[in-house]
Amino acid sequence: MARLVMKFGGTSVANIERIKNVARHVKREIEAGHEVAVVVSAMSGKTNELVAWCREAATLYDSREYDAIVASGEQVTSGLLAVALQDMGIPARSWQGWQLPISTDDAHGSARILSVNGDEIVRRFGAGREVAVIAGFQGIHEPTGRITTLGRGGSDTSAVAVAAAIKADRCDIYTDVDGVYTTDPRIVPKAKRLDKVAFEEMLEMASLGAKVLQVRSVEMAMVHKVRTFVRSSFTDPDAPELKTAGDPPGTLICDEEEIVESEVVTGIAFARDEAQVSIRRVPDKPGIAANVFVPLADANINVDMIVQNVSAEGFTDITFTVPTADFERAKATLAPVKSEIGFGTIEGATDVVKISIIGIGMRSHAGVAARAFKALSERGINIRAISTSEIKISVLIDAAYTELAVRTLHSVYGLDA
Ligand code: ADP
Ligand code: ASP
Ligand code: MG
Repeated sequence: MARLVMKFGGTSVANIERIKNVARHVKREIEAGHEVAVVVSAMSGKTNELVAWCREAATLYDSREYDAIVASGEQVTSGLLAVALQDMGIPARSWQGWQLPISTDDAHGSARILSVNGDEIVRRFGAGREVAVIAGFQGIHEPTGRITTLGRGGSDTSAVAVAAAIKADRCDIYTDVDGVYTTDPRIVPKAKRLDKVAFEEMLEMASLGAKVLQVRSVEMAMVHKVRTFVRSSFTDPDAPELKTAGDPPGTLICDEEEIVESEVVTGIAFARDEAQVSIRRVPDKPGIAANVFVPLADANINVDMIVQNVSAEGFTDITFTVPTADFERAKATLAPVKSEIGFGTIEGATDVVKISIIGIGMRSHAGVAARAFKALSERGINIRAISTSEIKISVLIDAAYTELAVRTLHSVYGLDA
């Protein structure tokens, strides 16, 4: 007998038929003798609709009410799955974030989980083997008693947090793909499924654009050593191979030590939500970078890639990226300090994409970046900015070349199936 958390994303619970299919996946695990807590997302498209309604009702909305609105999608699916399970003769009970509780800080809209109380659901595993169906994405800020939400894609984090709290043997993330691929399989049909991915690599892939797992869920899995397994909900729940002891198809997110042979490059990720800001003719003297980046930090604007040219005649250009959502605000923040800093103009572009090459094998291999630059130049793709870390290389290019660049790099590093 094992204790499992099973998480189902939006497309997996998109309608009643799929919710019944999810119930059959749960039934299979119950019949195998396991204790099961399920975490569900809202039906696909629901959260977008709720966010749009909120924005339509008021341009400057109260973030506590935003959370009250958008958390409702998960309330519906948790109740529906509990009903579908009961209908199959399986004892089940739905739980909202506040009912367990899943306690968070008060950063409404992107709250962090502080603790999860799993005592009652564990007690009910013992008394009557009841399945807990938990609404993902939501929690409660206990001092104020208000509902909070965890940021888009947050049900993954709910699932891993519940798994850590109830000391589950595994956290299964059921989604619309059968694992983590070398890149988004929707963009590159030749992408390959990875059997295992190290926590650190998955953290980079998720934060650099692979939305298959929310970044915080990977952080949490890494800290609490939760065995997280990404797999498909679109398989036949009663397929004989899922009932045997062998490993089902999917990707295990695990410690580096568990990966026997690692490739130099594990995957390619891309993010379309960054914008480029360039400041021209900045006087090149000590303190200039601080003059530019301190106001941005004070305005809570996250700066990612930074490039500064060597100076010519005492002037230089500084280019950096910010989230697209903060693009206008970044320009507006720097405009008032123009005379103080003494720069020429601010330019920028939002039709850019950041493509990243990720792999722990890079630590011990030279020349990985050079291959990317060569391959991109052979395709006539101009690189606007570069940033690197020990296990990743990112380049900023024109968005029009996204698919070409991802496909090119995918094959250059030998990742094509
Ligand atoms: P869910 O609704 O189940 O949470 P998401 O849409 O959040 O599902 O995440 C699954 C999607 O992530 C896939 O449909 C796929 O298009 C996308 N994706 C992006 N990068 C990858 C990758 N490297 N491997 C697998 N899927 C990826
Ligand atoms: N329903 C939420 C969203 O769409 C949370 C999730 O699906 O993980 O962002
Ligand atoms: Mg998701």
